[in-house]
Amino acid sequence: MSEKSWEQLEEWCLNCYRCGLSQGRHNVVIDRGSRQSEIMFIGEGPGEQEDLQGRPFVGPAGQLFDKLLVAAGFAPDEVYVANIVKCRPPNNRDPREEEQQACINYLRYQTALIKPKIIICLGRIAAKAIIDRDFKITKDRGRWIQRKGVWMMATFHPSAVLRDELKKRPVWEDFKSIRMKFDEIC
Ligand code: SF4
Repeated sequence: MSEKSWEQLEEWCLNCYRCGLSQGRHNVVIDRGSRQSEIMFIGEGPGEQEDLQGRPFVGPAGQLFDKLLVAAGFAPDEVYVANIVKCRPPNNRDPREEEQQACINYLRYQTALIKPKIIICLGRIAAKAIIDRDFKITKDRGRWIQRKGVWMMATFHPSAVLRDELKKRPVWEDFKSIRMKFDEIC
């Protein structure tokens, strides 16, 4: 493959019809934040507001995500944020396996461009796609693993925290741990 570039990624994504999610989209949602960041957060897919605005994590869950970032000492634009699929699944259903497979190479390409030292999966779908097929978010969240020199961890998706108050405390513990890891290695 020729030298990787953001322009190439954008051209591919904006013209992509590889899966059925292309049918209902208003925007292809590629990323937000710093493309120079050493930490990358990965969610599952755009919701309604993300689809309308063309940026990930800008709806209610995104607002909670930003609050967690700021509380942990990160400026929201200092980190890099992307999703497993780049077009909105209808009615916010989980992206299907075939849709994830169709889209995952774009995320791999993004990861190769960013070269993050830390990857944080937000929620079960991202953790299963990135860390381990058998990942159990309730049991395995908050645990660090290192793969090919990259530290990885998963925590609850902010939308799950909005649905369940009891997840607030563990997700905050995870964000404190993310801050400590960032300070340690970045
Ligand atoms: S979700 Fe991904 S693979 Fe499917 S159409 Fe959108 S960009 Fe292409």
